[in-house]
Amino acid sequence: AVENYRARNPRSAALLAEAEQSLPGGNTRSVLFHGPFPLSMARGEGCRVWDADGHAYIDALGEFTAGLYGHSHPVILAAIQEALAGGINLSSHTAREARLAQEIRRRFPSMELLRFANSGTEANLLALAAAKAHTGRSKVIVFDGAYHGGVLTFAGGGSPMNVPHAFVLARYNDVDSVRTLVAEHGPDIAAILVEPMLGAGGCIPGEPGFLQALRTLADECGAMLVFDEVMTSRLSFGGRQALLSIRPDLTTAGKYLGGGMSFGVFGGRRDVMERFDPRRPDALAHAGTFNNNVLSMAAGHAGLSQVLTAEVVQALNARGEQLRERFNAVFAQHGVDMGFTGIGSLMTLHATAGPVRSPADLQGTDGRAKDLLFFGLLEEGVFMARRGLIALSLPVGDAECDALVAALDAVVARHRAVLP
Ligand code: PMP
Repeated sequence: AVENYRARNPRSAALLAEAEQSLPGGNTRSVLFHGPFPLSMARGEGCRVWDADGHAYIDALGEFTAGLYGHSHPVILAAIQEALAGGINLSSHTAREARLAQEIRRRFPSMELLRFANSGTEANLLALAAAKAHTGRSKVIVFDGAYHGGVLTFAGGGSPMNVPHAFVLARYNDVDSVRTLVAEHGPDIAAILVEPMLGAGGCIPGEPGFLQALRTLADECGAMLVFDEVMTSRLSFGGRQALLSIRPDLTTAGKYLGGGMSFGVFGGRRDVMERFDPRRPDALAHAGTFNNNVLSMAAGHAGLSQVLTAEVVQALNARGEQLRERFNAVFAQHGVDMGFTGIGSLMTLHATAGPVRSPADLQGTDGRAKDLLFFGLLEEGVFMARRGLIALSLPVGDAECDALVAALDAVVARHRAVLP
């Protein structure tokens, strides 16, 4: 499969070699790298992308959830063009940021006040800063396998690049592991930071009882419960918190909420967020040249106000739910012990049919089987993440879903003998 890939993609290989002269590994976004070399995409339209060697794909990755609107949504394009025409660097507030803020608040009522940033990573860093300032405490409970940004990575326990917060690590979907940490560190804990579904960790849903217990434990020890909804905010009109009726103290999000432009947002309880009011003597100064950049503000507002109604959100996730069931039926039909986990429009392929409750359940599963399907699906014209993530975008319709299922069926049939 890898030899076919090399042969099919000489231009992508050459572009990587060229990039290597200036960028380490030819890369400026580590998640995109994989052996023998990642594809270089030339353009996208609707839910399709074309690589540098001219192959067409159904884009099943949707820019890791930021590309929810697809590549050429007329409403997004018009909003960006209109904003561009009015000047993009105005050195001041504009009417746009309050409009987008209101639209986000309408969807996520727990965000009584909010602020913008340039990425989900930044949003999480700022939410933690707010939690620490509000509580006067220093420790943060996080979960093994969680991803909150390039400097907040907890796969395999952590990363040497992580910001030097006083993190204490619990196990996902394991209430007792959190209870133990709360008993030990309770009066020092500023925040419990959690993804309501582990995203990069493999689309592993947080169990409702687990997430509800975090709410209770945070209240018991006086810590802020921070939901990182950077990936999960799309799972309903009001994110996973609305689905579960859990009100976090702080929420972080980003991705598609900026209409596909650089974006992050953090917000929550009024009494916590009011510390960012610059008129206060004890104000937390949160600066950032591009926090209110007009392109993100315009694209984000247009998408939310004109495209992403509650009905559209629901339909997208229902489509994803159905697709995941069909994918898993393919594995079952072929007697293959693999499967997709996830919720709604987000899913990740694993080399086990499950159950998968935490990253520990994935240890020892066959990574090569996933690779084989990844390269096989590329040959069938399906573009997904090497690690197995699929994030549906709005232009993915019935015909594309049928094509995705047929592609998986063909690849699994072809490689049946070597799959688990
Ligand atoms: N949190 C989660 C749950 C994410 O999935 C991501 C990005 N994949 C981030 C934070 C970081 O967002 P960004 O890439 O915009 O910095």
